[in-house]
Amino acid sequence: MTTAEQRILATVDALADEIIDFSARLVSEPSTLGNEASALRVMEDELVRLGLPPERVPIDPAVLAEHPGFAPVPWSYQGRYNLVAARPADGQGGRSALFNGHLDVVSPAPVDFWETDPFTPVIRDGWLYGRGAGDMKGGVAAMSYALHAVERAGFGLRAPVTLEAVIEEECCGNGALACREAGYDADAVLIPEPFGPTLYTAQVGVLWFKVRMRGVSCHVQATAAGANAIEKSYPIIASLRRLEEAMNAEERPAAYRAIQHPLNLNIGIFNGGDWPSTVPAAAEFHGRLSFFPGTPYPEVCERIRAAVAEAAHSDPWLADNPPVVEFYGFRSEGHTLSRELPALATLNGCHRSLIGQDAETYISTCTTDLRAFHFFGKGVGTCYGPVAENIHGANERVNIDSILQVARAYALFLARWCHLAE
Ligand SMILES: [Zn+2]
Repeated sequence: MTTAEQRILATVDALADEIIDFSARLVSEPSTLGNEASALRVMEDELVRLGLPPERVPIDPAVLAEHPGFAPVPWSYQGRYNLVAARPADGQGGRSALFNGHLDVVSPAPVDFWETDPFTPVIRDGWLYGRGAGDMKGGVAAMSYALHAVERAGFGLRAPVTLEAVIEEECCGNGALACREAGYDADAVLIPEPFGPTLYTAQVGVLWFKVRMRGVSCHVQATAAGANAIEKSYPIIASLRRLEEAMNAEERPAAYRAIQHPLNLNIGIFNGGDWPSTVPAAAEFHGRLSFFPGTPYPEVCERIRAAVAEAAHSDPWLADNPPVVEFYGFRSEGHTLSRELPALATLNGCHRSLIGQDAETYISTCTTDLRAFHFFGKGVGTCYGPVAENIHGANERVNIDSILQVARAYALFLARWCHLAE
């Protein structure tokens, strides 16, 4: 460790209270889908305060419609945007870096499963509690202050650094994609997703779909005269489960060989019916299915359609009234990369300087915004982030020391990757 690096790390430590305070202020803003405005305002104000004024980058479906990475969604992008602060280089000779984090969070419902209010940040026993604390507002605070700490310690950087706070990560990745298409990219991309201080080298593909069933409503005095759209979903879901098992049993990339059940189907939304004494005429469910890197998205769509059709064939009503399958939201393909690539090796070196040993490899069974950079940019990216628990569940929490550890590692990374200017 050089004396300059030590000075930067000491500055990160001196900023610890501000980093955690900023994390908590972000957690206070309930930035679920479509409600990100107040969190974006907190982020924008903070970046301005840190001397890193951001640009607002909208998501324009008209501009992105033809992009192979764009995921059509049924909701509007009117008035919604991402924030990107681009810090120019102070000289030459370094490699550029980009930190990306998302501000959108998933719903905390059902809220009565929480011990404290999900949007009232609570610090207890070294953990920060709240929806989004881990996924991933603590990481956003860490990455922002890592850059600030370098400047605060009195250094410039010999390559440009970009800070991105995006929306739409939890549903499709269109936020990160819009920033990529707006021209933001770098030699190295780091995302502090809460998988811990690891080198993230693989993620699966992920897609969303929905299936609509039609039935015939009637009074319960003669249910046989009707067709229960809710019950018609049972064989369809069972068929999709068989598809999931088949896909897990197939040939898989080496990175995934040691993982028990890497591909997961989730039925996450179910709507149908409105009266206990009426046979429901309509029902729909929404699902998420993952697939191995190397498998093209259209191929998985076809398999889902086939699984639904197969179930429909063996039911006389469904055979005559075929369920409708639609795809929206995530259509992200998976990827793998080597931890020996320069960006990852440099980050590992930073981790080793701080912790005394190599960072572990993380093989992910979900997706992240790395997709936008891996498939549509030049950047080599990885996730290295805080330690969190119960993300997407009740009582989400993030370990406070781990947020600071990310800030230290990122600050050190900037020094070694971008090179310091006095
Ligand atoms: Zn996340």
